[in-house]
Amino acid sequence: MPDYGLKDQVAVVTGSTSGIGQAMAEALAAEGVNVVLNGFGDAAKIEAERAAMEARFGVRVLYHGADMTKPGEIADMVAVAQREFGRLDILINNAGIQHVAPIEDFPIDKWDAIIAINLTSAFHATRAAIPIMKAQGRGRIVNLASAHGLVASPFKSAYVAAKHGIVGFTKSAALELARSGVTVNAICPGYVKTPLVEAQIADQAKARGIAPDRVIEEVILAAQPNKSFVEYPHLAGLLLYLVSDMGASTTGAALSVDGGWTAA
Ligand code: NAD
Repeated sequence: MPDYGLKDQVAVVTGSTSGIGQAMAEALAAEGVNVVLNGFGDAAKIEAERAAMEARFGVRVLYHGADMTKPGEIADMVAVAQREFGRLDILINNAGIQHVAPIEDFPIDKWDAIIAINLTSAFHATRAAIPIMKAQGRGRIVNLASAHGLVASPFKSAYVAAKHGIVGFTKSAALELARSGVTVNAICPGYVKTPLVEAQIADQAKARGIAPDRVIEEVILAAQPNKSFVEYPHLAGLLLYLVSDMGASTTGAALSVDGGWTAA
């Protein structure tokens, strides 16, 4: 493994009590990065995970419960990171939710929540992080977009709109920050078997009256040419490259990790 040179840096990872965010937080902690965890879940489980990360990786790990629909709480999370650690090197905008329905039946509150959590929260967190990173002369912002930030699927209008939006936001932020030492990039994964996707498999199996295995093969991985789920290390490898000095010239990019999905 290369030395990514990240020891003693500080990262905020939104939505890191589960799935991709948790895996990315652990990948950073394994490189010596102090981490602020965020997300919902059982308080005792979150505390156990926080303490386990500290013990396993020998870094400091804090938890901040900011709700990604609340701009003031998001700003506070970034302020707490800077206050507690004295710096902020890496911001991973990862929190996200999904809802699947035809547009004419799409619940308005679900549309609003998806846009708020999957898109607008990244604006609020980035807005708060930029002055800190600019003052440091270096920073790394990575947005978890999706293959759905580049192509669409039916019945996921809010998610596809939010993910296309986050790709556009990534490009705009990268141009604004191009001479500041701060890079901004989007990672666009195909399907990763997280709790978010497990729930989709169960829902689709019920809706279609078929077994979960058939849903995986015929529905979930239908668009993914390699017919394999993306695994956490495949994302962590790209993340570590982007946040290290090796990633200094990569900014404004939407990088696919999708088994060929968006090549088709
Ligand atoms: P997940 O459901 O496992 O985790 C989502 C995280 O976001 C959790 O920690 C949850 O508590 C947090 N969260 C949700 N609402 C929140 C809120 N209002 N405030 C704070 N935290 C909140 O999901 P995941 O599959 O790990 O997805 C993570 C990101 O990756 C999302 O942006 C998702 O769109 C994206 N993504 C996932 C896949 C996939 O196949 N799983 C593919 C492409 C992109």
